[in-house]
Amino acid sequence: MARKEVAQRTMAFYFERPAGFLFQAGQFIDLMLLDPPETDSEGNIRAFTIASAPTEERLMVVTRLRDTAFKRVLTGMPLHTMVNIEGPFGKLTLPESAARPLVFLAGGIGITPFRSMLVEAATCNFPHRLVLFYSNRRPEDALFLDELQSLQQKIPGYTFVGTMTQLEHSDYSWTGETGLLDHAMLTRHLQGIESPLYYIVGPPGMVKSFQAILRNAGIRQADIRTEEFAGY
Ligand SMILES: Cc1cc2nc3c(=O)[nH]c(=O)nc-3n(C[C@H](O)[C@H](O)[C@H](O)COP(=O)(O)OP(=O)(O)OC[C@H]3O[C@@H](n4cnc5c(N)ncnc54)[C@H](O)[C@@H]3O)c2cc1C
Repeated sequence: MARKEVAQRTMAFYFERPAGFLFQAGQFIDLMLLDPPETDSEGNIRAFTIASAPTEERLMVVTRLRDTAFKRVLTGMPLHTMVNIEGPFGKLTLPESAARPLVFLAGGIGITPFRSMLVEAATCNFPHRLVLFYSNRRPEDALFLDELQSLQQKIPGYTFVGTMTQLEHSDYSWTGETGLLDHAMLTRHLQGIESPLYYIVGPPGMVKSFQAILRNAGIRQADIRTEEFAGY
């Protein structure tokens, strides 16, 4: 195991991939701590999206560091510690057909499945038209920001749209969008994109507010796929 800070209070954990472990970009695992030195009422298992792509060697999961027993143990455990992984689970994956454009809406930590899908798309020459809207409070909080922007050079049909909702509290410079994602911002960046399929991922509150924006813009529920990171 290795770990690396990838944004403020946000840590990536890299695990050796068990032999024969196959998954699709966008899927998640249940990660179980074995015999941890402390635990609490939420137990020793959490669901984490696999943020690495199937073509990458190690399994990466990324999480916001909060002061819970699970995350204290995960952050402090020796690097050779064994964990149990179950999965992969989940159906929020890339469609096989590239007929419809894909619009990804991610809030904060909800970027993890899209990072996997985009690295996969870059490696496998995906023909899909892809637009990613990525909302964070500040650039400091936005994991994979540089990588997600630079993937535009590797995926011909991909556009990155980042927005910062509390830029006034940031020490970074930022030239992208600011403020909450709304109908006007969507319209500005989706000119010429015909009948896309929308994917929304993030903490439950954020998923609900993005869903409401799409519904108010007249998008049919059947064209929206969501995954909530329950627990946030
Ligand atoms: C399909 C799926 C995929 C997921 N993928 C990811 C992922 O890629 N990355 C990721 O980080 N998480 C992911 N999650 C969520 C993850 O499983 C955990 O629930 C989450 O990380 C919270 O864990 P925790 O240990 O911080 O809180 P828990 O100990 O699980 O606490 C849960 C409850 O306590 C409250 N709580 C705990 N700490 C705080 C705090 N500091 N402030 C306020 N309230 C608090 C929460 O509101 C919550 O109700 C995913 C969940 C699902 C279902």
